[in-house]
Amino acid sequence: MWTKSSARPRCKALMKHQKIRMAILLTAAVTGVLFLTSLTAGPVRQTPIAPGQAQTGQAGGQTEAPPGAPGQASPEAPADTTDPPADTAPPPEAPPDSPPPEAPPAQELMASEHFALWEYACDCAGDCDGYPHSMEPELLEKVEALRTGLGRPVIITSGVRCEARNEEVGGVSWSFHKRGAAADLYCPGVSVGEVAAAAQAVGLNILPHYSEGYVHVEIT
Ligand SMILES: [Zn+2]
Ligand SMILES: [Zn+2]
Repeated sequence: MWTKSSARPRCKALMKHQKIRMAILLTAAVTGVLFLTSLTAGPVRQTPIAPGQAQTGQAGGQTEAPPGAPGQASPEAPADTTDPPADTAPPPEAPPDSPPPEAPPAQELMASEHFALWEYACDCAGDCDGYPHSMEPELLEKVEALRTGLGRPVIITSGVRCEARNEEVGGVSWSFHKRGAAADLYCPGVSVGEVAAAAQAVGLNILPHYSEGYVHVEIT
């Protein structure tokens, strides 16, 4: 009986020591785990604090992933900016409109501001190429001045003439028309007398044809 009673206290003492050891081990283990978790938690906290990610996070706005958001958000923003230009594509329609206006001027050589060169061309039936003689610049300038003085369109009925055309219309052999120094013209709405006076005012020699309704003008 004594042996048993004396042995029990020893066992209880041992049990106490073991419990203390276990407690120490547990606390050590818990502290170790906490330390490890603190180490692992450290880097996680540092990543969100990074300035670059914070800025990208604000820029991304709705995107949740810090590392992926900055890369994806920035490409998307430029893409959106490039899309608007594509939507505002109406300009392509303008080019087709512009070519037409360019074509006429290229084909239509101007004798002066309001007169195309073809208006002075010979109107024969193919005896010449239309320009048997170059038009005198002084005549072109004075006819333009006449039009400016009248303030109305002036119609050229005859400019330069080849020999065949001059004979056909009964022109004199020394006609100024043959060397591009004369023109027959009229101004709709303005009398022959008024046109002749206006032509004389700009320095043109005149020969009014009242019955036919035009004025022959020439330079000396
Ligand atoms: Zn001709
Ligand atoms: Zn004439």
